[in-house]
Amino acid sequence: MNRRLFLTAGAAVAALGLTRAGSAATGSFEVTRSKAEWKAMLSAAEYKVMREEGTERAFSSPLDREKRTGMYHCRGCDLAVYSSQHKYDSGTGWPSFWQPVSSSAIGTKVDRKLLLRRTEVHCRRCGSHFGHIFNDGPKPTGKRHCLNGVSLVFKPA
Ligand SMILES: [Zn+2]
Repeated sequence: MNRRLFLTAGAAVAALGLTRAGSAATGSFEVTRSKAEWKAMLSAAEYKVMREEGTERAFSSPLDREKRTGMYHCRGCDLAVYSSQHKYDSGTGWPSFWQPVSSSAIGTKVDRKLLLRRTEVHCRRCGSHFGHIFNDGPKPTGKRHCLNGVSLVFKPA
């Protein structure tokens, strides 16, 4: 498929409001880039996590220890996706939040890669992989959005 057709198809899907149903692999997002474009703008480690659903090493991200007030943006498209207001220290070694800044900032899908069934979470706008959502988070949601710091850019308030 040529690039123009691909972008047109993506825009049509976005117009139908189907953008949240896709995954990093399908490309049916408001912001789409070719593999080469993603590789040019991301480091190898960022690409592995964001575009191939890899996982960064626990305790490797400085954002795990980030305590300042501010917003966490998607590294792939700059959409504000998580707020320091909902961040907490889960002790897992990955930046953890009990909810996104708004439910429309993210998309989810069922991940069956491991025997354990998990909920994968990605950027609603560009499909970049963030991490997984577990049910052992704090109140009021009881959710733990366990994210890869490399997928995010922190902007202090
Ligand atoms: Zn994004």
